[in-house]
Amino acid sequence: MKAHDGMYIGGAWRPAAGTDTITVLNPADEQPVGEVPAGTAEDVDTAVRAAREAFPAWAATPPAERGALIGALRDQLVARKDEIAETVTAELGSPLQFSQMVHAGVPILVAGSYAELAATYAFEEKIGNSTVYMEPVGVVGAITPWNYPLHQIVNKVAPALAAGCTVVLKPAEDTPLTAQLFAEAAHEAGIPAGVFNLVTGLGAVAGQALAEHEGVDLVSFTGSTAVGKQIGAIAGAAVKRVALELGGKSANVILPGADLTKAVKAGVANVMSNSGQTCSAWTRMLVDSARYDEAVELAAEAAAKYGSRIGPVVNAKQQARVRGYIDKGIEEGARVVAGGSEAPREQGYYVQPTVFADVTPDMTIAREEIFGPVVSIIRYEDEDEALRIANGTVYGLAGAVWAADDAEAIAFARRMETGQVDINGGSFNPLAPFGGYKQSGVGRELGPHGLTEYLQTKSLQF
Ligand code: NAD
Repeated sequence: MKAHDGMYIGGAWRPAAGTDTITVLNPADEQPVGEVPAGTAEDVDTAVRAAREAFPAWAATPPAERGALIGALRDQLVARKDEIAETVTAELGSPLQFSQMVHAGVPILVAGSYAELAATYAFEEKIGNSTVYMEPVGVVGAITPWNYPLHQIVNKVAPALAAGCTVVLKPAEDTPLTAQLFAEAAHEAGIPAGVFNLVTGLGAVAGQALAEHEGVDLVSFTGSTAVGKQIGAIAGAAVKRVALELGGKSANVILPGADLTKAVKAGVANVMSNSGQTCSAWTRMLVDSARYDEAVELAAEAAAKYGSRIGPVVNAKQQARVRGYIDKGIEEGARVVAGGSEAPREQGYYVQPTVFADVTPDMTIAREEIFGPVVSIIRYEDEDEALRIANGTVYGLAGAVWAADDAEAIAFARRMETGQVDINGGSFNPLAPFGGYKQSGVGRELGPHGLTEYLQTKSLQF
């Protein structure tokens, strides 16, 4: 794997201030695939200064021109599609086909959507005797996780650039090589110097320095709820804007009239893809008493099919964490019907695709985010109980409802405390706002709603 030994700041790769490095491991075989510099507060400061310097000219660039450059960036992502997929597979471990379709493919759609939105969005509106201008917030500090390494970057950088903001990115330490490829793409696309900057490094060092930097006007963070709370507190104390995309514990609600086989299979597939490392994964499957046993059988069968197809989880720590949750589920009385906590291979951070039956809403595995290939099947007696269970966690990021018809599923979904619900298998829409209710976050990404996160209004009365 190709790795840069510097930071991308002010339009060029430059040496890091310190000498510490991060070694990137392939989770499938635990072998090193590259090394990147571990940035310090000094690197962050240099990058923020570059972003500040570039801000006035970029903010003043006509939106259609910004859109054209984001379009060029999209084209660069298309040109690098194979390299991106191979890099994500090397540092995240996801099967190559999934890396090609999702990890490399979806960011192209999202970048394309912001190329178009920049050119078409009304950055100005009339309200009575006022003209309201939507102006960029300023310098964005973007902090991203490893689970969808490029998607999480593009979700922030594309709308920020479309809005006229400049960006300093601190990607996850497990997947910095994909971030370096993105920086190369931005450079080749002709994004002006300083508009996009990359500092690799550890969260508690480079990430925290970025969140705390007084030259950053908006912190956009995706990651765990625990770190999100810290970032929110830092931003609150400094009265700076903050967007938080955090954890989830989404419910897959299968109502009595639904096509059970379809709903269960889709539910298991949803969790197993990306080895369960999807914040919006439907990790709780809710099934009515009458069809509970049938659903358990179907889910166990479906999970068993993933046995050899699933990739590893990202690192040894996550593997130990997920296996610990499986042990906890057994300890608290849930029944393993597929998989288990034993590591399925000697090498690589693999976890068995696991299904739990007899899960009750108070169990740890029904309340906490596991972030691994684990589905918990919970029984309900009637719709009100299903709703209470679905809404009974601190999270509210996503979910699914299956019913005899869309109207019934929609009526149920409207009562759910969550930001996104797929109705009877509705497909992903890259323009629909994505983000959480409750402790799943603050703010929205994707489409026009994602763009407004990076804008502030100025009203002129005349
Ligand atoms: P994490 O919170 O440990 O790390 C996320 C990012 O924050 C990384 O870049 C990390 O280096 C940085 N970071 C860590 N500590 C920091 C600190 N003190 N100050 C500043 N930055 C810091 O999360 P993770 O383990 O990398 O990712 C998994 C979590 O992300 C899961 O909880 C998942 O649900 C969540 N997630 C949410 C969404 C969403 O859109 N809601 C999407 C993907 C992942």
